[in-house]
Amino acid sequence: MAEVLVYVDHVDGAVRKPTLELLTLARRIGEPVAVALGAGAADTAATAAEYGAVRVLTADAPEFADYLVVPKVDALQAAYQAVNPAAVLFPSSAEGKEIAARLAVRIGSGIITDAVDLEQGDEGPVATQSVFAAAYTTKSRITKGTPVITVKPNSAAPEAAPAAGAAEALEVSFSEQATGTKVVSRAARESTGRPDLTEAAIVVSGGRGVGGAENFPVVEALADSLGAAVGASRAAVDAGWYPHTNQVGQTGKTVSPQLYIAAGISGAIQHRAGMQTSKTIVAVNKDAEAPIFDLVDYGVVGDLFEVVPQLTEEVKTRKG
Ligand SMILES: Cc1cc2nc3c(=O)[nH]c(=O)nc-3n(C[C@H](O)[C@H](O)[C@H](O)COP(=O)(O)OP(=O)(O)OC[C@H]3O[C@@H](n4cnc5c(N)ncnc54)[C@H](O)[C@@H]3O)c2cc1C
Repeated sequence: MAEVLVYVDHVDGAVRKPTLELLTLARRIGEPVAVALGAGAADTAATAAEYGAVRVLTADAPEFADYLVVPKVDALQAAYQAVNPAAVLFPSSAEGKEIAARLAVRIGSGIITDAVDLEQGDEGPVATQSVFAAAYTTKSRITKGTPVITVKPNSAAPEAAPAAGAAEALEVSFSEQATGTKVVSRAARESTGRPDLTEAAIVVSGGRGVGGAENFPVVEALADSLGAAVGASRAAVDAGWYPHTNQVGQTGKTVSPQLYIAAGISGAIQHRAGMQTSKTIVAVNKDAEAPIFDLVDYGVVGDLFEVVPQLTEEVKTRKG
């Protein structure tokens, strides 16, 4: 069976959930060979193997941390040359997409970004994309070179399928361009202690109905009672009430949690594009005609400032 390269997104060896989804999808089109770079790369091997990696190519060098993406592109190119894969898959993060695009140029291949599904067709992998705010679904196949495909988080449920996955050192020689852009400082973002938005099992989002940054703690309190991540509509983000990193929707993050709670969000198509595949959707909105109610499993018509705190208290009481 042909091998498929899978770029591993990890933090100091802890593999992030989108990579587990990617390994699961990769198994549909071949045998996954994981590529992990940077500090802790070798520590990813056990997890990658658990999710089906037959081999894990690892490399660590100061260049991966000290410069922007080009050293990683050099490493992916080395892995591509060593493996001669049937496809190369990346998570659709900003970094994943940049590495993928640069690799595709170098190896003369076509690229598909932001796929939401992947299957094996008669003539190679076929990627599904959800376009025009999810109004259309398209299927595409790369016709030139080795397919390079980036896949959005939450496109598949990670399924373990243990494989050998032994770590092997990947030889990388860095190009002249590798050191062209140096990282001059790093500051860790203050941690909220909440789960990552795209990986959370529960997301509680607030919209324009929240009325101001000073009221967002109402949304955060419900999120914290449930161990959830906090999301926001673009209206709330554009008003400066919540950080852009928390925006859910077409121009924000795509989430697909077990439970999505929308408070004071009308349900515009661009918002729906980022959350409509959530398993259970609950909305609190004072307007019974709000379009979000067309989408929900449970809807509460009411003022969020009355409903949400009661919900928070109830959750806390039941959790004891
Ligand atoms: C190209 C493009 C990309 C976009 N991308 C995104 C995106 O990624 N994400 C996104 O969210 N939007 C996006 N938008 C914007 C989108 O069209 C909507 O404008 C936006 O989603 C509206 O946000 P909202 O639902 O919070 O606000 P509104 O539409 O104003 O809705 C607020 C809701 O709160 C309710 N409400 C008010 N007060 C209360 C209360 N006290 N209690 C309960 N309910 C209350 C109201 O009844 C109303 O339904 C995009 C738009 C464009 C054109």
